[in-house]
Amino acid sequence: MKIGEQQEAIHVWGGCSPIVANAINAFSDQWHPFSAKSRRYNIHRLIQEVIDPAIRHYADQLPADHPAIGAADPPGFYTEMSLGELTKLVGFDVVDKSMRMALRRYLRQAERIGAHDQEFIATCESTLELIRRCEGKAPSRSKVADHESLNGQRRHWFCELCGNRSEFASFVEDKAWPETDPIASDALKLSTRYCAGHRPKIEGQWNADYKRALRSKGCFDVEVDRLTRQSWDQAQPRSTSGNALIDRFTWHCIALQRLFPDEKAALRDLAAGITEAHITDAKKEVVMLVAEGMNQSEVARQLGVSRNAVSKALKSIPPRFRFDLLPGHPALPPSPQPSSAYTA
Ligand SMILES: [Zn+2]
Repeated sequence: MKIGEQQEAIHVWGGCSPIVANAINAFSDQWHPFSAKSRRYNIHRLIQEVIDPAIRHYADQLPADHPAIGAADPPGFYTEMSLGELTKLVGFDVVDKSMRMALRRYLRQAERIGAHDQEFIATCESTLELIRRCEGKAPSRSKVADHESLNGQRRHWFCELCGNRSEFASFVEDKAWPETDPIASDALKLSTRYCAGHRPKIEGQWNADYKRALRSKGCFDVEVDRLTRQSWDQAQPRSTSGNALIDRFTWHCIALQRLFPDEKAALRDLAAGITEAHITDAKKEVVMLVAEGMNQSEVARQLGVSRNAVSKALKSIPPRFRFDLLPGHPALPPSPQPSSAYTA
C-alpha cells in the first residue's frame, strides 16, 4: 500500500464545475480506507454516493445544444449507468479509456461548431484524475483473484441476450461509434447491457429483436450455463442437465466446435443459436436418439409421441444441430483429447 500517494488529495483542474470540484474534494477527504476490493469500504460505492450526483447535476444543467451532448457522451454523464456503476462493472481502466475518447470527441465537435467550453473540459479532466487515482489505489491482487475479476468483468462485457459485445464495450474496444449518425443524440446513449442489435428501443420504437430475445432469455441463460459447464471437459458429457440425452446433445455441440471456457463470445453465440432455432429439450432428445441410430418410429415409441411429431421436430432443426446428418453418421464425432490448459 502506498500510503503517501493515498493521502495526497486528488487534483482538481482550474475551471472545473464547482459542484463536481466540491464532490471530488469531499471524496479526497474520505477515500483513505476505501478500495475496490473492500466490502465495507467499497470505493465504487463511495463514487456512487459522492461523485455521481454531482456529475449528473452538472450534466443536467448543460444546455441541450451543448457540443458535449450527443457528440462526446462521457461515461457517467449521459450514459445509462452512473460513473460509480460503470467503474464497478467494467473497471477503472476501461472507464479511463472511454473518458479520454469522449474528451477527444468533444474537442473535435467543439472545433467543428466553433464552441468551446473550458469548464466542461476541466470537469472531465478532473473526473479523469479521480478515475486514475482510484485505479492506482486498487490493492495488488493475486493471480487467482485477477483471473476471477477478469471473468466477472467479461461477463458484463457481453450483450445480455447474445454473444456480441455490449454497445459500450464495442465503443471502448473499437474506439468507434455505432453505425448510426453520431450526432443524433439518441444513438449515443451507449448501452452497457445490450449490443446494438438488441438495444431495447430504436428511434423511440420498441425493437422487435430485443423483445423476441428477451422472451427466451431464460432458455438462453440455461444454454449458456450448460455449454459453459461442458466446455471445461471435451471428453465426456458434463452439462448436468438432469437428462442424459440433453447432456450428450450439449457435449456434441461443444465437441464439434472444440469450444473452451475462455471462448465466451462463441459459447454465447452457440447458446443464442440453440435458443433462436427453438431447439427445446424435447427436440434435443429426438436429435440424439436419431443420431445414435434409432429410426423415427423407434424414437416415437421411446418418447411416447407420434411418428409425425418426431418427423416435424427433426425438420424444424437447423442442419448444424442435426447430428444424425453429419458425415460419419451413425458414428458421432470422436471425443477430442482434453486440452491440458483446462485439466489442471
Ligand atoms: Zn445482443
